[in-house]
Amino acid sequence: MPKPPLLKLNVAIFTITGFISLFFVPYWAMTAGFDSIEILTAIFLFFFTGMSITGGYHRLWSHKTYDAHPIVKVVYAIGGAMALQNSILHWSSDHRIHHRYVDDVDKDPYSAKKGLWFSHIGWMLREYHTNKHTNYENCKDLQKDKVVMWQHNHYIAIVLVANFGITALLGWLNGNVLSMVLLAGVFRLVAVHHVTFFINSLAHYWGKRPYTESNTARDNGILAFFTFGEGYHNYHHIFEYDYRNGIRWWQYDPTKWMIRGLSFINLTFNLRKCPEERIEKAKAALQLKKAQARVLQLPNSELIKSKLQAEYEQLCVQLVEYYSTKRKILTQRHSELKISVEKLELDEKLKELKKALLVQKQHWQELLVQSHATAT
Ligand SMILES: [Zn+2]
Ligand SMILES: [Zn+2]
Repeated sequence: MPKPPLLKLNVAIFTITGFISLFFVPYWAMTAGFDSIEILTAIFLFFFTGMSITGGYHRLWSHKTYDAHPIVKVVYAIGGAMALQNSILHWSSDHRIHHRYVDDVDKDPYSAKKGLWFSHIGWMLREYHTNKHTNYENCKDLQKDKVVMWQHNHYIAIVLVANFGITALLGWLNGNVLSMVLLAGVFRLVAVHHVTFFINSLAHYWGKRPYTESNTARDNGILAFFTFGEGYHNYHHIFEYDYRNGIRWWQYDPTKWMIRGLSFINLTFNLRKCPEERIEKAKAALQLKKAQARVLQLPNSELIKSKLQAEYEQLCVQLVEYYSTKRKILTQRHSELKISVEKLELDEKLKELKKALLVQKQHWQELLVQSHATAT
């Protein structure tokens, strides 16, 4: 079967920006050099644009794992356009298909079953899915989001202004437009491109599968470091509505920290988390499946299998009991804390009222004395 035609614009963008980053940027670094402001700006924009994709495009819009204030949405929309990965609507539509038909060689737009190169970048180089996005059927909810549609309808203009306008302006302020555009514009763009593409490619190849083996997604702490926390991809594919990818507090997931951090100042809210017992249950179910397969060769395999099954079921019951009791205690503590805070506030109020009352009484007495004096 002949290959679909090349998408010339995409090929040109990846080739030209890749060539500049591989050859021209190192040459510039060795000859003219970059100053510390240019380096810091590039690092800042790397995180800003990368996390607009992971925190915005991915966890907010594609999976709706939390809600965000319109200001946060606009910032994500600009950062995402600056990462040059198509509009929120288009990206989310592709991504929802990826989750729904993960690994399917025909339906998954970046199926890992079609090879590392294809899932990394190859899928964007040819017209593999020409007619898929005529109406964005799977993103009706996003079509009601004003920020999403504003970005979609003015995508090219936002891309140009954000990528060239912002970096050129910063360069002009710093005294060298070309140097800033090279490092914080082009080099940063290529870096963000490839680290975010790793999520579709390497995160489906390299790492462990503790939660499910029904797809190729992997958990990998090293990849998480390069992908703003999205390396815990096995977990993500089974519990996609969780705003976290690295669920343990020590797992490197700056996107999770940013979302949680913003919730303290009410810029993000309704953060969704998978209940702990469901996470543990998924893990145990996979262990059970593997253990039952391992004992198949043994003469008394049926007996061992049913024992394993019974133990697993008992474990599930206890998991639910344990975690629901834990939740009850936590809510109770929370309301107790609230009551004690309210009591403290009341105590404080009572003290003030008492003081005011004493003053008032004194005035009253003084007035009585005065009126007595004037009467006599
Ligand atoms: Zn996802
Ligand atoms: Zn995936």
